[in-house]
Amino acid sequence: MCVANDLQPECQRRGRPTSPLWTDFPQDCWSQVMKYDLVVIGSGPAGQKGAIAAAKLNKRVAIVERDFNQFGGVCLHSGTIPSKTMREAILHLSGYSHRDVYGEQYRQKRRITMDDLRRQVAHVVEHERDVVQDQLERNGIDSYVGDASFVGPHEIAVTRAGGESVTLQTEKVLIASGTKPARPESIPFDGETVFDSDEILKLSEIPRSLIVIGGGVIGIEYGIMFATLGVRVTVVDGRRRLLEFADAEIVDSLMFHARSLGMVFRLGEDVVGIDRLQENRIALHLESGKKLIGESVLYAAGRAGDTERLNLEAAGLTPDDRGRLWCNEHQQTWVPHIYGVGDVVGFPALASVSMEQGRRAVCHAFDQPFHGCEVLPYGLYTIPEISMVGKNEDELTKERVPYEVGVARFREIARGKILGDDTGLLKMLFHRETREILGVHCIGATATEIIHIGQTVMALGGTIDYFRDTVFNYPTMAECYKVAAFDGLNKLSLEGEFAASAPSTSEKEEKTPLPREANIDVMAV
Ligand SMILES: Cc1cc2nc3c(=O)[nH]c(=O)nc-3n(C[C@H](O)[C@H](O)[C@H](O)COP(=O)(O)OP(=O)(O)OC[C@H]3O[C@@H](n4cnc5c(N)ncnc54)[C@H](O)[C@@H]3O)c2cc1C
Repeated sequence: MCVANDLQPECQRRGRPTSPLWTDFPQDCWSQVMKYDLVVIGSGPAGQKGAIAAAKLNKRVAIVERDFNQFGGVCLHSGTIPSKTMREAILHLSGYSHRDVYGEQYRQKRRITMDDLRRQVAHVVEHERDVVQDQLERNGIDSYVGDASFVGPHEIAVTRAGGESVTLQTEKVLIASGTKPARPESIPFDGETVFDSDEILKLSEIPRSLIVIGGGVIGIEYGIMFATLGVRVTVVDGRRRLLEFADAEIVDSLMFHARSLGMVFRLGEDVVGIDRLQENRIALHLESGKKLIGESVLYAAGRAGDTERLNLEAAGLTPDDRGRLWCNEHQQTWVPHIYGVGDVVGFPALASVSMEQGRRAVCHAFDQPFHGCEVLPYGLYTIPEISMVGKNEDELTKERVPYEVGVARFREIARGKILGDDTGLLKMLFHRETREILGVHCIGATATEIIHIGQTVMALGGTIDYFRDTVFNYPTMAECYKVAAFDGLNKLSLEGEFAASAPSTSEKEEKTPLPREANIDVMAV
């Protein structure tokens, strides 16, 4: 379907109002049929970046967001940005980063309230929402506020709260509707004592104790934030090991920190019931017969695709049982002109990747080349933060890749001490023969920033030698890479010395592999 220029309605050619009246834009278009090259459903990172990429290709683009106050998506209003801002506020107000110098009792503020935390969040969110709106406007993208639902494969109805609707006809569609927290009926949510991650910022008070159901990224991030505030936190999860995608040593280190903040982990335990007790107490019954009593419960055991109201059947699509869409490597669904991007397509459900998917889909839809990022970083904003790129030790061991590890401990890094972090570490995994970097794993201050140095060198096919030879500013956390490189290369040279001084072996003996345990011992040296 080609959209002719002369079909562009008057309201699209006019400038956009910048006041809150913008909610009604394009005002005189309601009850009309509007024509576009691309309609984007959802204004989170995937939708925004997809819409802007298409506008840059001179396509006529509309973006639909359910609620004016939700512009910027879950990412901006209840996910990434508020949670990271709240974390920063907690670090500042609790004095956490300075306790190393000023002592365990050091606090910036003694009685921290939810209002204190909300203040910084509101400040950041408001600014970021303006940035999003400004970018959409500058790129000539029409924004609609209302619920989008398919009328047919190329037709989308946008219905606003008052019931009026407008029909958008389009050549291509980007579904970027994101996810919402899973809310099983068995959990008695009330938004104050039993709540999900979208409701945290609305709490009137910081609870004295918190039970977190679900030890995934969201549960652990919030659990540690509250524990840093002095809340007694217990995490319950059916899995025996948390954050399985991350390096085991880094996760162990994180758990050590969490426990030192008083956090308790009940792993391999399933919740079978929740009761409200007197005096605002909640009791959680575990399948093992244990009972946990707390003042509040955060339910963070999964999110479901926000596709219920899209009327996907009219477009020929069926979501899976968790509301998510299947799509191929170009982000195309079974219906080739409809693309799925961001959290609605499932793993990895990160804002960073969602943006990339938005651009990838648009390039494919409009026949543009796309050079995707092959080495994706992951960041977890726990306290301390952790970050990783490439393979971890378990994966390399399973794949029988001969690798070595170079480690830098933050206590050896001057900047680490200055930042008050002498427990962090960075480990670099590299191929023993080609010396290529295979993975970088980090825990501690600035981990989510410095990981990108490793990511860049990996993406460019660099080796450990790069880090031996390069010069970093001093003092910086980047120096970790140099220290880790020397540590790793020392291990290699040690191995060389042993090999040179070993007695010569017969041909047959040389070919006999060491038992696996013995290989592991060599690594441990
Ligand atoms: C607590 C929390 C912390 C997180 N922290 C991080 C982090 O640190 N780093 C990171 O990379 N990621 C993080 N994430 C994940 C990140 O927020 C998501 O990956 C990202 O928001 C996904 O973006 P998206 O574009 O898919 O959609 P979303 O941001 O989910 O936005 C989708 C939008 O679509 C709208 N919509 C849905 N249906 C319709 C409809 N029918 N009509 C109109 N509009 C509709 C919704 O109102 C919503 O605004 C976090 C998530 C949570 C919940």
